[in-house]
Amino acid sequence: MTKSVNVAIIGSGVVGGAFLGQLKNLKSSIKYNVVYLAKTSTEALYSKSYEPVDLSNWSTAATQATLSLDELVKFLKAGSKPSILVDNTSSVAIADYYPTFIKEGISIATPNKKAFSSDLSVWKEIFSNAELPHAGLVYHEATVGAALPLIGPLRDLITTGDKVEKIEGIFSGTLSYIFNEFSTTEKSDVKFSDVVKVAKKLGYTEPDPRDDLNGLDVARKVTILARISGLEVQSPTSFPVDSLIPKQLEGIQSAAEFLEKLPLYDDDIQKVKDEAFAEGKVLRFVGQVDLKSNKVSVGIGKYAFDHPFASLKGSDNVVSIKTERYVNPLIIQGAGAGAEITAHGVLADTIKIAERI
Ligand code: NAD
Repeated sequence: MTKSVNVAIIGSGVVGGAFLGQLKNLKSSIKYNVVYLAKTSTEALYSKSYEPVDLSNWSTAATQATLSLDELVKFLKAGSKPSILVDNTSSVAIADYYPTFIKEGISIATPNKKAFSSDLSVWKEIFSNAELPHAGLVYHEATVGAALPLIGPLRDLITTGDKVEKIEGIFSGTLSYIFNEFSTTEKSDVKFSDVVKVAKKLGYTEPDPRDDLNGLDVARKVTILARISGLEVQSPTSFPVDSLIPKQLEGIQSAAEFLEKLPLYDDDIQKVKDEAFAEGKVLRFVGQVDLKSNKVSVGIGKYAFDHPFASLKGSDNVVSIKTERYVNPLIIQGAGAGAEITAHGVLADTIKIAERI
């Protein structure tokens, strides 16, 4: 008999839309019944009889009001099959509910970083609930570096007894692009503020580029990797994060005014770039987890022209993992964002769960 699982999907934005497209064309021996699809926080597709949602017309089909998270747990538990919740949002409210889903035996696949990178208590509750009898599974590969194989391989190394010594990486596609353009192995006078403006124009930044430049997104990803490696990081604001927003511009209201004033501070970062260049190095915005000194940090680092971080292209991510076994660090590199790439990471996690439940 064909194995089948029930799937509830929340969110149909950039990643969620691509996820639905890939699920529709999935070639798998397991049958995935999408029994609930919350397109937005108010509109959902589902039927009380668990009739699978028709994925060929989900964007135009008539919707009903979404279930509350309590109701969703009840709905999934009353279904006759094991259930997977796919959270394709960045919602904190949904993330805060993961411990309950897991305790109730509902597994989770998600690219949403919030639950794993907020207060340590949420992390602990998720993973202690996951140890309970009949608990759901938790897969979140796409929370760091999109679908790049980072979290799975890192967990495999640790579970099999390897000791992580240092993780270092470029975890933001936006800041990767900005620094790859700004600081090169050839002498250049390109201005930091001009690169930021081009990045915004190309759609690489958040609508307000300060949401990239403040380093918090990188801090969240580093928090996740540090916790997997065994460091009890309290929160993404509990360690040093060097913001790229000049102190004097911190209080500015609008993104437009910020971009207008940013050139006033070009000389400061240019000086750091020129000093690095004189040493044969480029600047990169990196996150670091040092298990020898138990330190986590986010900020600008200097890398020799022949270092793998110096030759990075476009908006790629790169992560270096040094362990007892990998004396020469394991280097994982590639696109760390994008709808189809991220969605396939979430879908691969969904399949792994379906195979195990
Ligand atoms: P998005 O804003 O395009 O989509 C989010 C969707 O979730 C929106 O359609 C919104 O209406 C919906 N939503 C929010 N709250 C909801 C709720 N309570 N119920 C139902 N729907 C709700 O964002 P995205 O780019 O698709 O990102 C989704 C997640 O993937 C985020 O956590 C993001 O950090 C993560 N991620 C994205 C990328 C990428 O390249 N876009 C890469 C890695 C990780």
